[in-house]
Amino acid sequence: MVRVSRAALRQITAVAGAAAEHRTAARDRHGRVPSAENALVRHGLDAEPIVSRAATRLRAAVIASAGRRRVVLATPWPDGKRWAAAFTHDLDVVAYWPLFTLLRLAELARKGQLGRWGRTLGSALAATGRDPVGQGIRTLLETERQHGVLSTWFVLCGTPTLATMRAGDLTYRPESPAAAAIVRSLVERGCEIGLHGSFATSDRPDLFREQRARLERLAGRPVAGVRQHFLRIRPGATHHAMLAAGLRYDATAGFPDRNGFRLGVADVIPAWDAGGERPIGLEEVPLCWMDRALSKYRGVEDPERWVAAGLALARACRDVEGLWVGVWHPNLTAPLGFPGAPAAFDELVRGVTGDAPFVGTLGAVVRWRVARRSVRIRRVAPDGRLEAYTALPAPAPLALEDAAGRTLEPVQA
Ligand SMILES: [Zn+2]
Repeated sequence: MVRVSRAALRQITAVAGAAAEHRTAARDRHGRVPSAENALVRHGLDAEPIVSRAATRLRAAVIASAGRRRVVLATPWPDGKRWAAAFTHDLDVVAYWPLFTLLRLAELARKGQLGRWGRTLGSALAATGRDPVGQGIRTLLETERQHGVLSTWFVLCGTPTLATMRAGDLTYRPESPAAAAIVRSLVERGCEIGLHGSFATSDRPDLFREQRARLERLAGRPVAGVRQHFLRIRPGATHHAMLAAGLRYDATAGFPDRNGFRLGVADVIPAWDAGGERPIGLEEVPLCWMDRALSKYRGVEDPERWVAAGLALARACRDVEGLWVGVWHPNLTAPLGFPGAPAAFDELVRGVTGDAPFVGTLGAVVRWRVARRSVRIRRVAPDGRLEAYTALPAPAPLALEDAAGRTLEPVQA
């Protein structure tokens, strides 16, 4: 027998359900719950996926308690992989790229980054009259192709106004020739397209349905996932609105200003309604690393250091057989103010994929984990074999394995 106390379960729910963030009324200047309100940040535990660690401890306790008896587990990830990684991109910049360069030049000057300032200016002048946004995306996709990565892209889908432009919210029209060409190239490549919810969606929940439909028309395929621009979310309320618009998963749960595990998990978990104390039917796929978390908010401008932090978190995810989700903005190129960033992205992809994770789109990892959660045993055959099945379809065959990770029976779909 393995016992878990009710107090421990309450703690786990509070952490993975972000209970403290649901309770607080504090907001930062972008209308977000500040990272400092998160219970893990308060206790200095945000760099560890502590709920996922607790799960591995539970597994170890079950195996120890079984002694010589057989313990059977579900394989963690497709293709015999022991952990997983997903590369995601928020498409924030399409039109008016020189404006973004000017803003970034001002930021670099303010920070005294004169070397980067000079290199940016040189690259921007050389790119004048060309298409540095499209070129940056082509380079990024080529890096991913070389390493067998299929990524997930979140695309803004509203109509920009002067006010949204000034706020750094909507700055391009998704149906404009440039944006439509980008979406087309991503779809052709096999990438997943998700909705990047604009600022207004967190105040006007009905907008999710409108923006999702608009994006589906543009992409020509269903849109299942969403991540909020600037990670701007109202805990609980925004999740209900996403669900009502027919979205299946949210990928917003991460820190804008630091890397780490906002919900304590390196995994896909059910979104939690802290008020009603129940799951609401939406899946949550937290991100643990974002390119500009260290640059925009911590003054670290060396892309190599961003990557080192990303790789350290990938090791933490691997240790718990979990999921690493990273965000890389495709506008991080030399003409837009980030010399050296594309090479750093190459290093990140090389480093993460070098550790043999399952690499998939967020839609694929969500479908896998939800199907895996639904594994049940129909009966034990007379010869001791387990007849296992999934109630929900999995994107790849599931199997059972023993405590040492040796594959046993397949799971029937
Ligand atoms: Zn964004």
